Amino acid sequence: MKYDYLIVGAGLFGATFAYEATKKGKKCLLIDKRSHIGGNVYTEQIEGINVHKYGAHIFHTSNKEVWDFVNRFATFNHYVNSPVAVYKDELYNLPFNMNTFSKMWNIKTPQQARDVIKSQIASLNIKDPKNLEEQALSLVGTDVYEKLIKGYTEKQWGRDSKDLPAFIIKRLPLRFTYDNNYFNDRYQGIPEGGYTQMIEKMLEGCDIQLETDYFEFVKQTNIQYDKVIYTGMIDEYYQFKYGRLEYRTVSFENEVLDTDNFQGNAVVNYTEREVPYTRIIEHKHFEFGTQPKTVISKEYPVEWKYGMEPYYPINNERNIAIYQQYKALADQEENVYFGGRLGMYQYFDMDKVILAAWQLTQALL
Ligand code: FAD
Ligand code: UDP
Repeated sequence: MKYDYLIVGAGLFGATFAYEATKKGKKCLLIDKRSHIGGNVYTEQIEGINVHKYGAHIFHTSNKEVWDFVNRFATFNHYVNSPVAVYKDELYNLPFNMNTFSKMWNIKTPQQARDVIKSQIASLNIKDPKNLEEQALSLVGTDVYEKLIKGYTEKQWGRDSKDLPAFIIKRLPLRFTYDNNYFNDRYQGIPEGGYTQMIEKMLEGCDIQLETDYFEFVKQTNIQYDKVIYTGMIDEYYQFKYGRLEYRTVSFENEVLDTDNFQGNAVVNYTEREVPYTRIIEHKHFEFGTQPKTVISKEYPVEWKYGMEPYYPINNERNIAIYQQYKALADQEENVYFGGRLGMYQYFDMDKVILAAWQLTQALL
């Protein structure tokens, strides 16, 4: 038998492609080097709690088609992400909004908040923010920057805020209303029962081989297939011939605690530099869990080396230039298509990964 598609990587990109191709009557074989499906959205049960093994994942989108699509495979709950930030013995709501400002300055109205920010940045004279520090200062003033941004950002990225691009901080909403919702999207939630079950449903009818590395597989296999959808690292595919792309990684330290409620919220950020982790995730709160125990994950930012999990592409000038060289090779391939955050070397939210996979299915199917 011959497969129409060999799909490398059982993450959301590979699963979306597999679902659409199978629906159109194509035979697909999906392989992954890990021992499980789901890629980075994989969840695993510990003490009856769905633990987000590769980092907390909150589904949010403004695209109705994408929302209807994921709701075919899971029931999404009404979770709304509202992290809190701890700075020394002070606690603030995120994202930056009137709850944050009223606690910080003991004020009540949006006008008062704007006046405080204005007076704090008047002497700084920032016209056209050139880096993250200037961008953050011009948006929220010195107090919020010093307490909630500077330490967190510098430990997360391992470099000075002055050496980071302004756009990173523009991802966060800034509101002069009392609204703690971390996202501006129309739809948001967590799939009840975890993401793994959702991906399992997407992969019905598709053959799967786990613990199978593509590069070993191609050396040994006599399985036949027409086309390859590759969602691994693009530089690895080409044996790093133009150099290695860089990533930022995170090390997750999980603990099971003998308490039913450790921190009262799914996400608590630790914004001072001296605390070595950036945040603590308490997984049960994503699904309003009532289990007797709890599971928490501390996130420690780590400088990435080959062999570690490549979580976030570092899209600086050097890496973009290298990626363009690999992309030029990829564009010349006849039967290999690169997708997903590693194949396209881009940070994608989950909804954007689904859209990117659809683009490919539309072109191919
Ligand atoms: P992946 O999920 O990484 O899948 C790629 C798969 O390919 C992996 O399973 C890997 O094992 C496999 N693979 C690689 N190389 C090989 C090989 N040589 N042979 C065989 N298999 C191989 N998005 C949101 O919308 N909301 C969030 O809250 C959110 N939080 C995030 C938190 C973190 C810490 C990170 C890193 C990302 C977050 N994201 C979030 C983004 C989300 O994880 C991605 O959009 C999505 O997982 C990307 O899917 P993918 O299929 O492209 O990649
Ligand atoms: N950020 C911050 N303080 C916080 C949370 C976020 O300064 O308490 C900054 C930080 O620079 C971070 C960026 O905002 O990299 C984007 O935050 P987000 O929560 O989107 O980061 P991610 O979940 O992608 O790691």
